[in-house]
Amino acid sequence: MAKLPVSVDKIIAEYGPHKAYPPQGGFYGTNEPDKLVKTHCCYCGMQCGIQLKVKDNKIAGFEPWMEFPFNEGRLCPKGVQRYMQNNHPDRLLSPIQRVEGKGFEPLGWDQAMDRTVSEIKRIQKSYGNDSFAMLSGVSLTNEKSYMIGKFARIALKTANLDYNGRLCMVSAGGGNKKAFGLDRSSNSWADLAHAEVIIVAGANISETFPTLTHYIWQARDNGAKLIVVDPRMIPLARTADVHLPIRPGGDSALFGAMLKILVDNDWLDHDFIDQYTSGFEATIEAVKDYDLDWAEEQTGISKDLILEAATLWGKAKTSFLMHARGIEHHTKGVENVLSCINLVLATGRIGKPYCGYGTITGQGNGQGGREHGHKCDQLPGNRDITNPEHRKYISEVWGINEKDMPGKGLTAYEQIEAIHRGEIKGLISICFNPLVSLPNNNYVREALEKLEFYVCMDTFLCETARYADIVLAGSLHEEEEGTVTTAEGRVVKINAAITPPNNARRDGDIIMELAARLGEGDKFSYPTSEDIFNELRVASKGGTADYYGITYKKVEENMGVFWPCPSLDHPGTPRLWEDRKFRTPDGKAHFNPVAYRPASEVTDDEFPVVMTTGRVVSQYLSGTQTRRIGKLVDQYPEPLLEVHPKLALKYGIEDHDLIRVKTRRGEAEFPAHVVETIREDTVFIPYHWGGKFSINQLTIGHLDPISKIPEFKVCACQLYKTDRKGSDKRTKTAYQSSL
Ligand code: SF4
Repeated sequence: MAKLPVSVDKIIAEYGPHKAYPPQGGFYGTNEPDKLVKTHCCYCGMQCGIQLKVKDNKIAGFEPWMEFPFNEGRLCPKGVQRYMQNNHPDRLLSPIQRVEGKGFEPLGWDQAMDRTVSEIKRIQKSYGNDSFAMLSGVSLTNEKSYMIGKFARIALKTANLDYNGRLCMVSAGGGNKKAFGLDRSSNSWADLAHAEVIIVAGANISETFPTLTHYIWQARDNGAKLIVVDPRMIPLARTADVHLPIRPGGDSALFGAMLKILVDNDWLDHDFIDQYTSGFEATIEAVKDYDLDWAEEQTGISKDLILEAATLWGKAKTSFLMHARGIEHHTKGVENVLSCINLVLATGRIGKPYCGYGTITGQGNGQGGREHGHKCDQLPGNRDITNPEHRKYISEVWGINEKDMPGKGLTAYEQIEAIHRGEIKGLISICFNPLVSLPNNNYVREALEKLEFYVCMDTFLCETARYADIVLAGSLHEEEEGTVTTAEGRVVKINAAITPPNNARRDGDIIMELAARLGEGDKFSYPTSEDIFNELRVASKGGTADYYGITYKKVEENMGVFWPCPSLDHPGTPRLWEDRKFRTPDGKAHFNPVAYRPASEVTDDEFPVVMTTGRVVSQYLSGTQTRRIGKLVDQYPEPLLEVHPKLALKYGIEDHDLIRVKTRRGEAEFPAHVVETIREDTVFIPYHWGGKFSINQLTIGHLDPISKIPEFKVCACQLYKTDRKGSDKRTKTAYQSSL
């Protein structure tokens, strides 16, 4: 029977709104620690090294970890506050269950497990195995990602497992696989420092991957030219040699036009193209009509700037191209990625010192989390669940009959659509907050209301958890050992600093117990995280993401090992493709023709303004953790609508006015933040908030046909000035972040 959400008033009375902690910000644990634990930041894909101070089984503060090679002690505003999530008053300390009319009440683990397992069995018996779906997250370690992939296929016996990397890295992954046959950035960031020219496309590095900025500054100190592609003059763009203020949705037109300029001027590496690539002729045929006038029209960037950028790139001897969600969150995200890769391949600047290509992963384990099998179409080692050989190999590792292995399932947003169609009736989620992070989230909420049973594993009562029947209190990053893989492809070690508080449990233990209660305990018996990793190593062996030669000892001794690492005596691979042996079937890097097409929703008379979304430095993704930390909240308390003064003038908008933003999905109100750092035809709103502050009430649920990533970065909207002002929550810092 469908459940209605627990009354929001009730939840707020008992559990929130989020308590910013500590109330005044500030350091709360200055006592001498019992120990310092070397580990990594729990947030973005940089996975900066950090030492956590532990006192009485609580995280009491941090010390920089100067020796860790990527960040050498540097941390961003999120990193220096990350320790405050531990012992937060909002932390879930025991399983809770919804009691109609009362809200949530604690219950014991036995009762929680009994009810969860009996609901799984009831739903699957009534509607079939695939009617119970699972959604996972890439903040989880490699070990948990691997175990969840195995759990869904063996214990839950469902095809419908997907993960929140579907909203993050899948367009990059789709492009990488098509072009190189392997999905990883080609180099460690160390190669950036001596690149002559750097293109940063759709990546607000200074705010979303702040410690990576250091490598760009190093390159700048060494004379590198910097080209930034972004509709906003993001902090990095303010010192760039060329800022290309692209109209959202125009990316493949820009990169196609740049490729044509390379061809017209013969700024090409013919030896590399001839010997090591395929598809060049068809690719240049696709852009033969992309002259500068056309490119200016499609991208909104002056042709002089496009020519200048292409000339810098074309004449360079060494170069690095990096991109992130700005070009990937599109219904043509994979095409955008491929059009970037075409520029890299045309100049042959890959697989040698100071030359490379990088996709910057967003979530902490955005790289490793997309390799070990908790995607709907994937098995460990980045194997394909539809490939008979891959299925056979993994079935042998798992000790099951290949015929019992489910096939390809639905992606995250497709699961929501299937709930609406009545095909999915039950859901288990872990570390995924789709009510904030998926597009068109009123549609998502309606789906959650239709579920017969929903069990959520998390550490805080996130917005989505409020629709659960049972919430299982899981573990934070610092409470469970494991590994993650950074955006560079470096496998690093997460060390448990403390144990979960009160009656919360380690995620791994919860999954293992569920598996046992579903009758598959013999396949989920791992005394330690290292035991899971050792099985993962074998499962990944021979796959494109080969971890076989990586051990905990090797990771700790070397402060990280880059995959692929196929044997125990292999040192790992910081720079890919030096051997020119690409992992495609023909062994060559593939050019891919990209014909420009517009965004799925373009502006018109009814919705004449382009709307785009993104992140701010002090918040992280759906905000479950960062919206609870006082100083981070102070820095950017609520989402603001960035609007250019000329567009503001047209609508009579003044700074701080409350603006109603309407799209075809709905409407919501945001305070105006009038800035000159955005295109005149575009507004920007960050996406870290839920409820009435959620910009994803308005975004569009159209998906890339290959990656199935939603088009978060562009839709059409209309603005209505209200006669009210926004709240006074904004601090000077919030203004400064966009000035
Ligand atoms: Fe954490 Fe990323 Fe900031 Fe490093 S850059 S401290 S990993 S949020």
